[in-house]
Amino acid sequence: MKLSIVVPCYNEESVLPRFYEEIKDILHQLNTSYEVVFVNDGSKDQTQHILQTLSEQDSLIKYVSFSKNFGKESAMLAGLSYSSGEYVLIMDADLQHPPSLIPAMLAKALEGYDQVIAKRDRSGEKFTRSFLTKLYYKLINSLVDVRLENGIGDFRLLSRRAVDALLSLKEYNRFSKGLFSWIGFNEAIIEYKNIIREEGASKWSFASLLNYGIDGVISFNNKPLRIAIYLGLTVTLLDILYVLYMLIQITMKGIDVPGYFTTIAAILLVGGLQLFFMGIIGEYIGRIYYEVKRRPPYIVAKTANFEKETEREKI
Ligand code: UDP
Ligand code: MG
Repeated sequence: MKLSIVVPCYNEESVLPRFYEEIKDILHQLNTSYEVVFVNDGSKDQTQHILQTLSEQDSLIKYVSFSKNFGKESAMLAGLSYSSGEYVLIMDADLQHPPSLIPAMLAKALEGYDQVIAKRDRSGEKFTRSFLTKLYYKLINSLVDVRLENGIGDFRLLSRRAVDALLSLKEYNRFSKGLFSWIGFNEAIIEYKNIIREEGASKWSFASLLNYGIDGVISFNNKPLRIAIYLGLTVTLLDILYVLYMLIQITMKGIDVPGYFTTIAAILLVGGLQLFFMGIIGEYIGRIYYEVKRRPPYIVAKTANFEKETEREKI
């Protein structure tokens, strides 16, 4: 049995050496064969250099290096497609995903679970972020078809058939949280306490979290378009009722000139709604545009320690 560990890295020079030490200790205790697949997502710091050195010292340390930053989704995808183990673990490089959890996760997987998910609580996180996430998950779960849960991220152990299922999804706009849930299979959850990032910085700004949130809603179904239809219908019905009411008023009482407020109110309300829903439709069209271009989700500049055949297969 072989375990592959996939680690997306973007500017992680400050934590990588420590990450390597910790993971190596744990893996030695495990008594299974393994490989660690680092994906250098176009880092601008010494990440590439560190990975190069590690891979020269240790042939079980492999890396895929992108030609530029393609984002964590692409990095995870590359890691999954380059890994060859019967089980694949995805984890962050910043030690927020504790390596000490690996033995327990693997034991669970060997019990026959295809997805073993490590779930964190949100202790120690900024109040605004945890509050907003809670709100977001409430909203998103009422909108998307797959189940998404607070605290469940990309830290998980997948069986080979779960990995193959993920790799068979060829979409360009990947929202992994949803994809993990979409492929199904039986899953087990292991909880752990949230760990604050000690070194390096989180790559998430408020704006990028917001965009990620919109991705989540839009990439899983077309319910927002459905909402547009219903809301549009409701507004139209109300309009008709109002026009009828006005018509009756006019026929009974004659023409009443002051109508500024109602006119402005109607224009603003309907105009706002139209812009909002045009935005939603635009989002979907934008996604279609990206999908039809069929661009690869990432471009590899360099790899190390993969067997020649595996490498050729991927190109
Ligand atoms: N990451 C990546 N590409 C990116 C951004 C992040 O590969 O464009 C990696 C990063 O190196 C880390 C993981 O994804 O290993 C999670 O990133 P981060 O710690 O910034 O996210 P957070 O833990 O704050 O959710
Ligand atoms: Mg982190």
